[in-house]
Amino acid sequence: MVKQTIQIFARVKPTVRKQPQGIYSIDEDEKLASSLEIILPRDLADGFVNNKRESYRFKFQRIFDQDAKQETIFENIAKPVAESVLAGYNGTIFAYGQTGSGKTFTITGGAERYSDRGIIPRTLSYIFEQLQKDSSKIYTTHISYLEIYNECGYDLLDPRHEASSLEDLPKVTVLEDPDQNIHLKNLSLHQATTEEEALNLLFLGDTNRMIAETPMNQASTRSHCIFTIHLSSKEPGSATVRHAKLHLVDLAGSERVAKTGVGGQLLTEAKYINLSLHYLEQVIIALAEKHRAHIPYRNSMMTSVLRDSLGGNCMTTMIATLSVEKRNIDESISTCRFAQRVALIKNEAVLNEEIDPRLMIMRLQKEIQELKDELAIVTGERRTEVLTEAELLQLEKLIASFLEDQDPESKLEVGADMRKIHHCFHYLKNLLNDQKIHGMSRASSKVKGQDCREPLKEEEYKKLRDILQQRDNEINILVNMLKKEKKKAQDALHFSSMDRGELRRSWGSPFPPGNPDSPRTLPPSAPTQATQDSCPSQYRSGWLHRKTGMREEMSLGRQEAFEIFKRDHADSVTIEDNKQMLKQRFSEAKALGESINEARRKIGRLKEEITQRHVQQVALGISENIPVPSMPDLLEEKLRSQLEEEKRSYKTMFTRLKALKVEIEHLQLLMDKAKVKLQKEFEAWWAEEATSLQVTSPAVNSLNHLKPFPQTPEAQRERPQLLSNKSDVYTRKILPSPSPLLPSWEQSGPSNPPEDSIPERPVSSVPLTGDSQTDSDILAFIKARQSILQRTGSNDRPPSIAAARTEDR
Ligand code: ADP
Ligand code: MG
Repeated sequence: MVKQTIQIFARVKPTVRKQPQGIYSIDEDEKLASSLEIILPRDLADGFVNNKRESYRFKFQRIFDQDAKQETIFENIAKPVAESVLAGYNGTIFAYGQTGSGKTFTITGGAERYSDRGIIPRTLSYIFEQLQKDSSKIYTTHISYLEIYNECGYDLLDPRHEASSLEDLPKVTVLEDPDQNIHLKNLSLHQATTEEEALNLLFLGDTNRMIAETPMNQASTRSHCIFTIHLSSKEPGSATVRHAKLHLVDLAGSERVAKTGVGGQLLTEAKYINLSLHYLEQVIIALAEKHRAHIPYRNSMMTSVLRDSLGGNCMTTMIATLSVEKRNIDESISTCRFAQRVALIKNEAVLNEEIDPRLMIMRLQKEIQELKDELAIVTGERRTEVLTEAELLQLEKLIASFLEDQDPESKLEVGADMRKIHHCFHYLKNLLNDQKIHGMSRASSKVKGQDCREPLKEEEYKKLRDILQQRDNEINILVNMLKKEKKKAQDALHFSSMDRGELRRSWGSPFPPGNPDSPRTLPPSAPTQATQDSCPSQYRSGWLHRKTGMREEMSLGRQEAFEIFKRDHADSVTIEDNKQMLKQRFSEAKALGESINEARRKIGRLKEEITQRHVQQVALGISENIPVPSMPDLLEEKLRSQLEEEKRSYKTMFTRLKALKVEIEHLQLLMDKAKVKLQKEFEAWWAEEATSLQVTSPAVNSLNHLKPFPQTPEAQRERPQLLSNKSDVYTRKILPSPSPLLPSWEQSGPSNPPEDSIPERPVSSVPLTGDSQTDSDILAFIKARQSILQRTGSNDRPPSIAAARTEDR
């Protein structure tokens, strides 16, 4: 058992603008812990009614300042937890902090660069690497991905995501067994046999989460996400299985409801979040109190799910993410306060071992049989039935291998069966007699059906023995030659199959013919489809689309509009960057794949040369009747050292290629995700445009309303406002089809029909599903508006990309 308090770490998010000096400072001097001092600026301190203090000091295990790399975070925070999970203990890492402070960046990673990948992908990589290294145990890995939103649990890996929206899926519910163990109903577990499979699951879950998110339900800041790696291990032959779980938790934003200043539906959600984190806080306070009997885990779903992680059988680590901009200082202080309370909680992690009943039964059955046999011998009970032919054959094989075995410790194990023991003695006796009679060393003649020929004469026997020796040598040479031929044939087969397909299948030759622009060769290794390793390279393309149910086909008008939208979107630069990076990695992988093949061929050739050298020497020995030289053969030694050298370089290249493979896979998933996001945003924008086209409202007449999709930082900051106003859109009155052709404001000038004269139609029923006539109309509308914007010199041009990328939310 390992007793440990929850470890707390702090990470300060980089600020965009330079902050005034002295707003916070980190003191790393102390031996066991670092301390963070937050100095409240005067103007802010004045606003605090009950609190006149100006500086606050908090202790953490370690504090990571703005420049800390993802790699450092993984090495220092996640790796020790992953190690204890590999040893069989439960582990949890959770990130806590206000929205925008870097929780998702820390737990999952940034969407742009490979080096930005966060704790989850790095931990998966580490765990699978360790599993591969350790051949002493059999490991099984499963993944689950749960989202808790408004106190309801959703399975982010539910395959039904394709067909339904999050709300329509069966909710994940918490069940408790009589031993107070928590079980989650409707949460699927997916086996992942490789790192890629696990990564695919992570991206699938993230994409499902992104798709389910609507302006009304900003799930990413208001929900908790729990990515869990379930690991079981067992030693071969043992009936004891170890289970360990690693929860990687991205909590909802911890900002207080009073500060968010939202109303209506959003308020309800904010309250819920507050409730959920509030219950977490209550549990933590209760745990920190000594002698407290009741811990209110059951109050919320999140605390029920994380019950073991808080004061239970788990090694838990918290990362407090801090944003040190002036306006965020009070939230940062409350995050640190929360962390200080968390640090008081003691957990007791134990190894979770259980007996696998199936294996136990098998072991007991074997034991019973052995005991029965022994008993039969002791009590003298005899088995009378004769041994079958198969049993006799089996015994003879056992004797043969026993006699051949050079190990003096080797045993002839036939079980506690007197019939078998007797048969063995009998057989050996016959062999011995046979040798005595014929003086021969070979014991291959059958015991049964012994012929009783006359003993041979001495010289006749000698002659025969010489001939036999000669034949033996010939046979050996022939067998060697045969082996060589067989190997050649195998190699030829192997290489030709490699040339044809293996490279492409196994990421050596990255560009599938005819499509150099979209290199898609990595097999997706989808969770439930381990056999898809050999499926066509296009498989991955659109994998996320299909898995997440996004539409791929569009009418021509929409495609054109999509191109415009894509060109102007802030993410297009990221996608382009990643594409270039991917291309470069692919060429590297391709070159490496070729060098590896070359090395493999060289190794094959060297092995062949060595074998040939052997055969030559034996042949020489036979023909000239000289014994095989005991002196080391210089040529052979040289060949061997070359072989070793080649093997070493092969191994180095192979390791590099493996790392490249993971990187390529990751980049592709990032791109897929970005594309899905782009398409989703396009759909929303398109719907808005369609509404503008069809709605006759005063707003349509104003040029201010004529905005392309807002992408500039300012526009994005405005966006929540825009989006929360979207409820207006829902209640807006929409003109009935068919009349929507070109915008009425262009043709007939301002018009503002009385609202009650227009029949109501919800926005979702605007035809957007590939009706090409309507789509062309919308496109014409968008183009007309864009040209007006250009004519009027409006600088509402879409995204100022560089600004959008460094934007500080
Ligand atoms: P949260 O999940 O807490 O709401 P995010 O992780 O989404 O916050 O971070 C908000 C923004 O800040 C994102 O664009 C993210 O890429 C960026 N960001 C957060 N932490 C860092 C960091 N350590 N380095 C660089 N960018 C960061
Ligand atoms: Mg987040």
